[in-house]
Amino acid sequence: MSIIVQKFGGTSVANPERIKAAANIAIKTFNQGHQVVLVVSAMSGETNKLIKLCDEMMPSPELREYDSIVSTGEQVTSGLMALSLINLGFKAKSYSGHQVKIETDGAHSKARILNIEDTNLKKDLNNGFIAVVAGFQGIDKKGNITTLGRGGSDTTAVALAAALKAEECQIYTDVDGIYTTDPRVVPEAKKLKSINFEEMLEMASLGSKVLQTRSVEFAGKYKVKLRVLSSFSPNNEGTEINFEEKKNMEDPIISGIAFNRDEAEVNILGVPDMPGIAYQILGPIAEANIDVDVIIQNLGQDGLTDFTFTVQKNDLKRTLKILNEKVKDHIKAREIKCDDEIAKLSIIGVGMKSHVGVASKMFRTLAEEGLNISTISTSEIKISVILEEKSLDKAVKALHKAFDLDKI
Ligand code: ADP
Ligand code: ASP
Ligand code: MG
Repeated sequence: MSIIVQKFGGTSVANPERIKAAANIAIKTFNQGHQVVLVVSAMSGETNKLIKLCDEMMPSPELREYDSIVSTGEQVTSGLMALSLINLGFKAKSYSGHQVKIETDGAHSKARILNIEDTNLKKDLNNGFIAVVAGFQGIDKKGNITTLGRGGSDTTAVALAAALKAEECQIYTDVDGIYTTDPRVVPEAKKLKSINFEEMLEMASLGSKVLQTRSVEFAGKYKVKLRVLSSFSPNNEGTEINFEEKKNMEDPIISGIAFNRDEAEVNILGVPDMPGIAYQILGPIAEANIDVDVIIQNLGQDGLTDFTFTVQKNDLKRTLKILNEKVKDHIKAREIKCDDEIAKLSIIGVGMKSHVGVASKMFRTLAEEGLNISTISTSEIKISVILEEKSLDKAVKALHKAFDLDKI
C-alpha cells in the first residue's frame, strides 16, 4: 500500500477548527486507500511565544534548554491532531521526534537529521493507524532534544517521506502553491504549476519561507515527489517541484524573486590586507556554527581593507561577541559595525545561464526607482543585492513588473 506524507504548517493547525479541517484532508487520503503519515507544526504564533519566553528568561538562551522548550509546540499539536482523528472514528497515534526516532546531530536550534528509524511507524501504519509526527524536532546521540531551525517541520516531512519511500510528500500551508514571489508582498504574483528543483532550492535558500531549504535539499537527494498546496482549498492541485531541467527556449529567464529580511550585515573596517585574514575572521564564526552568507572583501588601500558579510539576525549578537572578544584585537581591525535594517533581494532563473543583460536590467530598474544597493553577489542562476529593509517592498514590486513575472 502506498504511503502519503502530509505536513500541516502553523496556520493550518491554528485552532481546533483548522485541526479538524486538516484531519479531514488526511481522512480523505486514508479512505482512498493510502497509508497516511501526518507531520504537524506548532499552532501559529506558538513557536514565537516560546522563543520570547526563552529570551525573557535568559538573553541568548542556552541552546539545549531552548530546544527542549521550543519543541513543545509541535508536541501539543500532534496530540490534538491524533485526538481529532480518534474522535472521528479513526485509529491514530501521535509521535514526538524521539518516539519515532528521528536522530539528529547535536547542533542545537539548527540540527540536521542523520537517520530515521521507521520500524514503529511502519508497524502502526500496517495496523491501520494514521501516524501523527511532531515536526521540527529530533533527538541527538546523547538523548538531548534538538530542533531543526525555523520552518523545520517541512524537513521532518520530506525526510520521513524519503525514509518511508512515500509516494508523495504534500506540504499544506496558507497559500495554494509556489508563486513568482511572496503573494503577500506582490498581489500580482502568479502561481506556478510546477517549479524546477534548482530554482526552488535557490528560492528557499534566498528567503522564500514557503519551504525550508533543507527540505528541498532532501527532496533532491532522495527524489521525493514534493507538492505545496493549501489546506484552505485542498482541491487545488498546488505546485509540484520537478526534477527535470527545463529546456524550453520560451521559458521565462527569471522565474522568481525571493527576499530575506532576517539577515544583518557586519562590517569590519580597517583590516590589514594580508593572506589568511578572511580565515581569521570567519574561522571562529564557523566554529560557533553560525552560517555566513554574502561575503565581500573590498579592494585594499594603504595596506588596509574592509570586510563585509551577512549572518541571520538571530545570530548577530553571538557574531559580534565572537568578533569583539576573539578577532578584533587579534587581527588589529579598526572598527566593527553592524546594520540589521537591511534586506537581501534575489532574482532567480535557470534561464540566466544562457542570457546576458539580466543584471543590467535589474540594476537599471532599481536605479529608476531611486533605490540604493549596498552589496551585490551572483551565481549561475541568481543575482542578489542587499538594500535598506524599508525599500524592499518597492524593489520587489518594480522587479516583478520589469521582468514580466505578472504575465507568466
Ligand atoms: P507554514 O506555517 O504553513 O509552514 P510559512 O509561513 O512557513 O507557512 O510559509 C508560507 C508563506 O510563505 C506564505 O504565507 C507566503 O507569505 C510565504 N512565501 C514567500 N515566498 C513565497 C512564494 N514564492 N510562494 C508562495 N509563498 C511564499
Ligand atoms: N514551529 C516551527 C517554526 O515556527 C517549525 C515549523 O513550523 O516548521 O519555525
Ligand atoms: Mg513554514
